Amino acid sequence: MLTKPILGSLLTAALLSAAGSVLAQEQTLNLYSARHYQTDEALYGNFTKATGIKINRVDADDAGILARLKAEGAASPADVILLVDAARLGKADMDGLFLPIKSAKLEAAIPAQLRAKPSAEGTTWFGFSTRARIVVYNKMRVKKSDVDTYEALADPKNKGLLCTRSGAHPYNLSLFGAVTEHLGDVKTEAWLKGLVANMARAPKGGDTDQIKGVASGECGVALTNSYYLARMMRSTDPEDKAAVEKIGVVFPNQQTWGTHVNVAGAAVAKNVKNLPNAVKFMEYLASPAAQNYFADGNNEWPVVANAKVNNPALQAMTGGSFKSETIPISAVANNQTKVQQMLDRVGYK
Ligand code: FE
Repeated sequence: MLTKPILGSLLTAALLSAAGSVLAQEQTLNLYSARHYQTDEALYGNFTKATGIKINRVDADDAGILARLKAEGAASPADVILLVDAARLGKADMDGLFLPIKSAKLEAAIPAQLRAKPSAEGTTWFGFSTRARIVVYNKMRVKKSDVDTYEALADPKNKGLLCTRSGAHPYNLSLFGAVTEHLGDVKTEAWLKGLVANMARAPKGGDTDQIKGVASGECGVALTNSYYLARMMRSTDPEDKAAVEKIGVVFPNQQTWGTHVNVAGAAVAKNVKNLPNAVKFMEYLASPAAQNYFADGNNEWPVVANAKVNNPALQAMTGGSFKSETIPISAVANNQTKVQQMLDRVGYK
């Protein structure tokens, strides 16, 4: 005979399993995101509205997401991962955290140079917005024509003027990886040595700190991602407005190989639990409406050809358009180990 507690737990188990099958019918997507912006609610809400697929979000920074994925291993509930910067996407890819997918829609919508190199199994990650790594300079201290290429930043004429964040930060690893593609290893290492020799101060802080350093005059010239400057240009804070007045902006290498452009991107998780929903979501991110939310949320540019940009700061910064590099961003991402070794050799902290 069954005793009451056992009968009770059997009933509970039966109820739970019934609940489980109901839950299984509810379409969900588990998103691990390193991007969190005001436009996200609309971005994700429209996907749920169109597909009925509910999005469960885990928000963390890039390093936190990668650590979590590694700790969770095969049990990870993550379906799609959003990361910023090609170096980080490339690192996660090398660590085996992504599942290659084949999607005719994504291949048609995303330019080939803005995604991972495809293998026979498919493509692991796709860029969904772009940002430029640009030069800002103090208009009182520096002439624009002296800092209008990345190469010029290492020229002895700019000694004591340069500020950057850490050389090992992904944004710099990607820029230096791109320069390696353009100039080759030997010239790139000599260039990095020149950057170190031109520093106004030891590398520290984030990109916004470099912009402020240029505005205050502590730095003559600095590198920043375009969206940090756009954010400051759109700010209503009087201090930001005053800072913006003091600086000039250059999209470097317009006469040669173009300005270095990086991506924010997404990938399907290696241990994906809802594969069809994950692919659907990736394809949704490439739709023109989603592209606008995705890019606008962080003052970036959409990657899809027919998506419109309506951002006054980006317009003011570029005068409408600029020449960007055309090398594959996957090659840039794959140079990061080599770049780190060069940084160690030249003493770029
Ligand atoms: Fe950033």
